[in-house]
Amino acid sequence: MRRKGWAGRLLTVFGIAIAALVLLVAVLVVRTLMLKPTALATDQAPAVVAFDLNQAADRLGQAIRFETVSHQDKAENDLSQWSAFHDWMAQTYPAFHAAAKRETVGEGALIWTWTGRNPALQPIILMAHQDVVPASPETLNEWKTPPFSGLVADGAVWGRGAIDDKGSLIALLEAGEALAKAGRQPERTIIVVSGHDEEVQGNGAKAVAEVLKARNIRAWFVLDEGSAIIEDHPAVKGPAALIAVAEKGYVTLKITAKGQGGHASAPPSQTAVSILARAITAIEGKAWPLRYDGATREGLRELAPYAPFSTRLFLANDWLFGGLLAKQMAANPAAAAGMHTTIAPTMLSGSPKENVLPQTASVWINYRIAPGASVQDVVDRARAATKGLPVDVEIEGMGREPTPVSSSRSDAYRYLASALGDEAPATPIAPSLMIAGSDSRYLTPVAQDVYRFAPNRFHLSELGMIHGVNEHMTLDNLERNIRFYARLMAGEAGTATHAN
Ligand SMILES: [Zn+2]
Repeated sequence: MRRKGWAGRLLTVFGIAIAALVLLVAVLVVRTLMLKPTALATDQAPAVVAFDLNQAADRLGQAIRFETVSHQDKAENDLSQWSAFHDWMAQTYPAFHAAAKRETVGEGALIWTWTGRNPALQPIILMAHQDVVPASPETLNEWKTPPFSGLVADGAVWGRGAIDDKGSLIALLEAGEALAKAGRQPERTIIVVSGHDEEVQGNGAKAVAEVLKARNIRAWFVLDEGSAIIEDHPAVKGPAALIAVAEKGYVTLKITAKGQGGHASAPPSQTAVSILARAITAIEGKAWPLRYDGATREGLRELAPYAPFSTRLFLANDWLFGGLLAKQMAANPAAAAGMHTTIAPTMLSGSPKENVLPQTASVWINYRIAPGASVQDVVDRARAATKGLPVDVEIEGMGREPTPVSSSRSDAYRYLASALGDEAPATPIAPSLMIAGSDSRYLTPVAQDVYRFAPNRFHLSELGMIHGVNEHMTLDNLERNIRFYARLMAGEAGTATHAN
């Protein structure tokens, strides 16, 4: 009995390992079963005000016919389209324009201020931009109807901007018009902000932010375009409403390699192009590690209770499986973009002729910066990666930092969730990170909480129509948007009575 044989010791070790494994599995399962939903849309309330959906669809079609196209080269923009659109809005929505004061800021941004019944409450800022991206000429033959036709057919309004973002703008105006016509004044002051150049610099929204700051306006929250209800969310295998609580930063670096010019028949051991190729490889080789954290992690934790058990087990125990989840999700580029700063080499320039050695060669690399990193981090990392290579690293144009992350626990978030709940019963609601940009980034100084969301229901396969071909707004989505904005404006969503 004094000492165990080797077999006995092995049995003890084996026993401890089994016990540890059982304990671990128990912890994982208990954590999984303990997950409870925190934000779920429940009851369907009637529309807060009556409106004519068919008329709204016709008007969205008319709005699309104003070709407020933001070109990369501003000189190509037809400014008369914006002023005609402004006139049309005033004529088409007379009750709203009588109730709310409209101002033009800068070249064409608009602010409507509708004073609330209780001016002591902080105002709500609702945003939607007027401009659209061009319909690229190569894809014109893929459109079922010309991109600026604004045709209403097959239960939808078709054309560039139907979703991004005239759909939201028209829904806001329809909601305002219906409420004003019914003699309803919102509880809080409603400020509607519409930038005229979101698709390029967003100078309009920037100028509006300056005006609001100068007026010492501190909003309860800002709501702009951004996210949606995804009908086939991979985590829950069903619908999920994603409210973007932050957006990534943006910067483009220009990397230039210098070489000896001359005739390509007697090249040096490496040309500016070969140096540049090594620089690109080095920069891409120093990718930001995937991080399962922030809004991405928080959002998936919210969705976990609705996920199938196997997925839920992983999401509920992200302390253990975070790395694995990140690795698995990274197969989808959009999901990967939610977990790190992305590196995308886009443009190249070199020699002007095939048999001439380049004096210089350049690459432009577009970065989308995750919260937690900065423009300076991007520059530092590119310089570190290309250390020892004869290249220059410089910032092209203006970079911008990631936005602050808004709360998904605030009264404002709950108010949004409850207004949405009426539109999307039994749909889980979760915070998310917006990987593209919006005008709302300029408004972060005027509100603690800035959200990016509209209650459009999309399948993942439909997202390509935004900036792509056959962009269209279904009448169902249009109706949902109008009711949602009317409820937000009227102050009849859940926590609306909580003064703050
Ligand atoms: Zn947009």
